Amino acid sequence: MNAVEFKKHGKALIDFLSDYIENIETRNVLPSVEPGFLSKFIKSECSEKPEPFEDIIKDFKSNFMDGITHEHHPHYNAYFSSGLSYPGTLGELVCAGLSVAVFNWINCPAGTELENIVLDWYAKAMGLSEDFISTSSVGGGVLQNSASECILISMIVARSKAIKELKGTSDVHESSFLQNLVAYGSKHANCALEKAAKVSLTKIRMIDVDDNGKINVDLLKEAIVNDLKAGLTPYYVMATLGTTGTTAFDNVFEIGRFCKNIPSIWFHIDGAYGLNAFILPELRKYGKGMEMADSLNVNACKMLLVNFDSSAMWVKNLKYLDNALGIKPVYLTHQHQNTNGVIDYRNYGISLGRRLRALKLWFVFRSYGLTGLRSHVRNIFNLAKKFEALVRKDNRFEVVNEVNLGLVNFRLRCSDVKTKELLAEITRSRKLFMVPSEINGKFNIRYCVIAERMEERHIQEAWNLIQQTATTILYTPCS
Ligand code: PLP
Repeated sequence: MNAVEFKKHGKALIDFLSDYIENIETRNVLPSVEPGFLSKFIKSECSEKPEPFEDIIKDFKSNFMDGITHEHHPHYNAYFSSGLSYPGTLGELVCAGLSVAVFNWINCPAGTELENIVLDWYAKAMGLSEDFISTSSVGGGVLQNSASECILISMIVARSKAIKELKGTSDVHESSFLQNLVAYGSKHANCALEKAAKVSLTKIRMIDVDDNGKINVDLLKEAIVNDLKAGLTPYYVMATLGTTGTTAFDNVFEIGRFCKNIPSIWFHIDGAYGLNAFILPELRKYGKGMEMADSLNVNACKMLLVNFDSSAMWVKNLKYLDNALGIKPVYLTHQHQNTNGVIDYRNYGISLGRRLRALKLWFVFRSYGLTGLRSHVRNIFNLAKKFEALVRKDNRFEVVNEVNLGLVNFRLRCSDVKTKELLAEITRSRKLFMVPSEINGKFNIRYCVIAERMEERHIQEAWNLIQQTATTILYTPCS
């Protein structure tokens, strides 16, 4: 492809993307394909001969797009999904077109410095304490591949710190201390926590939650005290701000106060979805005490219109990240590596090569301004409240979570079976995409407000479909 063709096809694809977004409502949110559909259209071997790009675009628009679940459709109300905005897409485009790797300062000075600056902006926008802002402390931020990776990295850092302290000057191999280490989190923490413990080869205790889905802090304290008495080393506690199931906010103040007295514990806060809510100052009360965390993470793509992926992590003392993950082969050295303020991001994560993700955050934050982002967040929270009000008006249904952000969990009062049937029937229609959740052993349906273009009429349309389907399903009365 030469430059002329690149511009021609590039423009065609930009037009396609814009038309796709503008007309997304003409499609069903869920595709009608069955597993294995794509192999009917795409050969099992790559062609030996080059193919015209027009043909590739044609197949992409038809065959490939036929199998897309439309995550930015106003009736995609399933997961805390990927963000999307035009400035974010342009940020991704430039990132792809420059194709640079941000692993040390010399390989991408602008990308490195921009990442540092936009993560300071992001931290300030959410009211994080000065301890997490690079210009005023030994802390700062870093972009990782996912929230799961942020959680894993925080656990690896905690593990490394705890083992170093246990080992002291002895010759015993680090792995001998693994059996001593215990991590803690709530039963409602995202499954990424269990995965992190699996990879880290340490024990994890999943603590029960209260009726609102918040970790039971008394049980957490009891578990830690018992482990200390048994000679084990509590090394990692994770709290969640905005749980995946119910958007509950753990009491980070109580947890932080307790953890402060146990030096072996690294306190991490997973705010993959919920931390974004603190862009609204009036919601920061839910994060009271978060300044006591050693590290935090949040996904800008889950609420702030930055395209997937955009997972940020802040650490109070970046030295611990470097101690656990820093690697300094001679081929990565450069003349500025010891200059104050120069960051080589590879030392703060797992990957060596890293994408230039900061660009899309920069594009989105600047084009919307904090005011624009706040008004988007307010809109999705208000719409969730409106949906909640509709559910509460129909006494066949109940709302099962405290609706504080964009998520409403609801169910048919009569039974799990009917609620499952309701969800299955709606999913079969392909007009509305919601997913199940389980709270206190009961089956619920998640309705999550996400898309930028969501309006009140979409809430009403969704609710009409839910009510009509429920009426059909409940034709046979519940026993
Ligand atoms: N933590 C919470 C609270 C989440 O809701 C999710 C996903 O929805 C995750 C972590 C995992 O996010 P990721 O897909 O970026 O790994």
